[in-house]
Amino acid sequence: MTGQAAESMLPRAALDPRGAVHPYALAPAESGIVEVANYGRGRQGLIPLWVGEGDLPTPAFIVEAAKLSLDAGETFYTWQRGIPELREAIAAYMGRVHGGAFSPENFFVTIGGMQAVEIAMRLVAGPGDEVVVPTPAWPNTAGAIAQQGARCVEVRLDFGARWSVDVDRLAAAITPATRAIAFNSPANPTGFVATRQELAAILDLARRHGLWIVADEIYGRLVYGSERAPSFHDVMAPDDRILFVQTMSKNWAMTGWRIGWLEAPAALGDVIENLIQYSSSGVPSFIQRGAVAALEGGEAFLARQVAAMRGNRDRLAKALSATGRVRFALPDAAFYLFCAIDGQTDSRALALRLIDEANVGVAPGVAFGAGGEGFLRLCFARSPADVDEAAGRLARWIGRCVGAA
Ligand code: PMP
Repeated sequence: MTGQAAESMLPRAALDPRGAVHPYALAPAESGIVEVANYGRGRQGLIPLWVGEGDLPTPAFIVEAAKLSLDAGETFYTWQRGIPELREAIAAYMGRVHGGAFSPENFFVTIGGMQAVEIAMRLVAGPGDEVVVPTPAWPNTAGAIAQQGARCVEVRLDFGARWSVDVDRLAAAITPATRAIAFNSPANPTGFVATRQELAAILDLARRHGLWIVADEIYGRLVYGSERAPSFHDVMAPDDRILFVQTMSKNWAMTGWRIGWLEAPAALGDVIENLIQYSSSGVPSFIQRGAVAALEGGEAFLARQVAAMRGNRDRLAKALSATGRVRFALPDAAFYLFCAIDGQTDSRALALRLIDEANVGVAPGVAFGAGGEGFLRLCFARSPADVDEAAGRLARWIGRCVGAA
């Protein structure tokens, strides 16, 4: 049967991809980062700083653990919530990082941090509900909210010597339809790190209004100047309604493995198990073995990554500051410089222009919500040589096109 003949047998609606799918599938907007990356992909010599990942492959000891698992024949369906060894390794890791006792019963292994966000949103919000999100923010959070038929209510973070959150502004955004606050600290794209006091104030707000908090703390270990960032774990009580999003992706150079976890009250275990069952049916065992190896033996790699990124951050910041035309808050965590170039207000147009005129790929700030317009996100998790070259190209472009300070 030819393709055309096959198509003619489909119901009419199926021929129109927009008409054939459920409206919630259409709700999430196209990613502004993908648009820029598609424009620049494949350019000779382009330095891509647009994605949120480094250029190092996963350390060999992690890869080896996955290979051993495959060789041992771990190729079957597995636990929906994650293999017991990994859930125990996560609980032990969390105990080492945060202090205190953690139970494997609270951890659910997911396909990256993304599936943890998706399940969290599914748990707390549905059609007609609202979720408050400080922005600029990683766009997939808003996408996951829209996917549930709920509405993402943006609240601007304040830009200054550091990014900060105005808790009164968050409070003012709460309506009877609000179900949750999605809070990302340390944050992508700004590098904003909430203080313990800010976290306590947000928790207090959530308690007063009976809201969930979806706490995305995936960059909590990629911090410059301390072992870890402040966490809701520091201020919460055991019965607080907080869902934590975590991932193996960034700390251990495992973005392509697609493994992370959701931390949730154990009472939600059966519900979460079903949500996993009916979406991914679990994470492959051999991937989980790699994650166990990373959690148990990955501290030295993580420490080296943090030191290297700190050096990259400082050199990029110095080179851009020297132009006298770039404004940013020096990030205390994560691996992004979120900066604005004087006189450049249309970040999408600027990101496209920088591909053509500087051969550097950056993410346009507008992709991170209304509060991001006018900014660019530069990921500095690359080799020092790449970061220096990109910084030089950007500085020269600014010299040519923006004028002297
Ligand atoms: N949260 C934030 C803030 C992120 O930046 C990312 C990835 N860019 C994720 C969650 C999801 O991570 P993963 O790649 O593991 O799905």
